[in-house]
Amino acid sequence: MIATKGYAAQNATTDPALWSFEHREPGPNDILIDIHFCGICHSDIHQARNEWGNALYPMVPGHEIVGTVARVGSAVTKFKVGDKAGVGCMVDSCRVCPSCKAGEEQYCDKGATVWTYNSKTDAGLTFGGYSDKIVLDESFALHIPDNLNLAATAPLLCAGITTYSPLRHFGAGEGKRIGIVGLGGLGHMALKFSHAFGAHTVQFTTSASKIEDAKKLGADEVILTKEAGWDANLGRTFDFVLDCVSAPHDITPYLGLLKRDAVYCSVGIPETPIQVAAFAVAMGRKHVTGSAIGGIKETQEMLDFCGKHNIVSDIEMTTFDKLSEAWVRVVKADVKYRFVLDTKSL
Ligand code: NAP
Ligand code: ZN
Ligand code: ZN
Repeated sequence: MIATKGYAAQNATTDPALWSFEHREPGPNDILIDIHFCGICHSDIHQARNEWGNALYPMVPGHEIVGTVARVGSAVTKFKVGDKAGVGCMVDSCRVCPSCKAGEEQYCDKGATVWTYNSKTDAGLTFGGYSDKIVLDESFALHIPDNLNLAATAPLLCAGITTYSPLRHFGAGEGKRIGIVGLGGLGHMALKFSHAFGAHTVQFTTSASKIEDAKKLGADEVILTKEAGWDANLGRTFDFVLDCVSAPHDITPYLGLLKRDAVYCSVGIPETPIQVAAFAVAMGRKHVTGSAIGGIKETQEMLDFCGKHNIVSDIEMTTFDKLSEAWVRVVKADVKYRFVLDTKSL
């Protein structure tokens, strides 16, 4: 077994603290990764605090993992020792159902997606990237472009793919007017991608302090949504709106901004259901949908796109002893724009 050190939440009310555990010995198809950096995603907080009602403890959060390959199994072909490697939100799936075959393992029809942490398998619980090592099947590990700063690449493994995938799927690009709601970890990546795809991109934010940043990150327009009535005079002009907000909020004004037949997609997963006013979707035959991360093939495509266009996350480095402080700031929407844990601080 592989002795591993990490930070685990032992229940819903105590923040993660130092904990020792074991990963399996790498099998023929497995790689062992020495983790260098791990991003802090709001989903880590939702799950550790059991806001989604699915928490399994002890929980070692973290699914924005980058590091170097330290060991490879005898049948491994994609990686060699010393390669940079990344791990996102999943480490396995059934691999044979239509969704898995289509490269959408996150939507495995058998419900057999194994999440990087907080999943129960025959071998026990899975443990994530707030730790110094991870063992997984090479099929679910990603190659990291060499030209990108490694720490700033970590958030691409969740915030990156979660926004890249729906923007691609719903056709963000030249000639389209795209709205991004919430300028946090996901939101700032959505803004970068929408801009890079050539769309006219409008950032919606509740934080006046982020307006100038949003413009620098690629927004053609920034709209402050703090005061009621902010949506007056915007018309029905949007082709697609991507909601990246972590907390419950009223989506009705945004539905009013969509063109006829246009789509409102939430990647944000607040702890309470999204309320959809029937009138707001009926008038204009509008669609409300969601999207979860992206498959392994598309995640590699996103990383390669980032390598080619020099896209990484805007990060604030932090250390394990300051994890609780970082989580408080994430919940207050006070991070520009993603915290990344340095494994050396473990
Ligand atoms: P984050 O960094 O905390 O960003 C959330 C942003 O939402 C904040 O920066 C803030 O932006 C806005 N916001 C916060 N509270 C708000 C409120 N009460 N009303 C309106 N806006 C508010 O979170 P994240 O890591 O980007 O994650 C965002 C959400 O996506 C979380 O729910 C997370 O669990 C979910 N998620 C889903 C997937 C998926 O596969 N679907 C993957 C990863 C994460 P402004 O300051 O600009 O207003
Ligand atoms: Zn995440
Ligand atoms: Zn499947």
